[in-house]
Amino acid sequence: MMAKPYIAIDGPAGAGKSTVARALAKKLGYIYIDTGAMYRAVTLMALREGIDLRDQDSLSQLARTVSIELLPDYDGGLKVLLNGDDVSGDIRSQQVSQNVSLVAMAPGVRKHLVELQRAMASRGGVVMEGRDIGTVVLPEAPVKIFLTASHQERARRRREELAAKGNIIAQEQMEKEIMIRDQIDSTRATDPLTQAADAIPIDSTSFSVNEVVGMIMARIPAVEERS
Ligand code: C5P
Repeated sequence: MMAKPYIAIDGPAGAGKSTVARALAKKLGYIYIDTGAMYRAVTLMALREGIDLRDQDSLSQLARTVSIELLPDYDGGLKVLLNGDDVSGDIRSQQVSQNVSLVAMAPGVRKHLVELQRAMASRGGVVMEGRDIGTVVLPEAPVKIFLTASHQERARRRREELAAKGNIIAQEQMEKEIMIRDQIDSTRATDPLTQAADAIPIDSTSFSVNEVVGMIMARIPAVEERS
């Protein structure tokens, strides 16, 4: 039996998964794994290489050949290395955000990244966030959270994140972008975004990060006693 369990956090874009998962991992002394960053890294590489994003075979081939590393950052976040280069900033560009869901549809890309994610989580003590963690990557995770927030609030949070980096986007455009991404993510044939039957749903619209972390923490002692 594993000494430390893993925690799976899934949900749509902008629901606060990264912020919550990072804070939770810090509190528990667990490793934080942002699986979206891995899909973003493959997307960045595909854009740089000029690969047709509808050519799923080429995308799968690319995913198998690139090296993606997630290293803990000084502030509890992650540094993302793509073939050894730090692409932590580049993977958050609008161009990557607008294309990543298309790349994440490719079954071969998913198969490879899911394998990597399982290997990263194999020793337990992990908070992993994404879209298919509780359903596909770690279906045996003892704590599964499905984090949501209202559509407007999710767009507002994403805009705020981007504005902090000097990137100003209209609320309407952000809402549209998020809607398109969620639609592709939840309707794709392979590993769509969906709530696991045993996941705890949390609507974070009117809660602070600390409050959401508290709600998740409240579920953990009981689980650790069981493991
Ligand atoms: O979490 P983030 O918004 O950075 O994820 C970017 C995209 O990566 C998602 O919109 C989705 O298309 C894809 N993704 C996925 N499965 C995951 C994590 C992310 O398909 N586990």
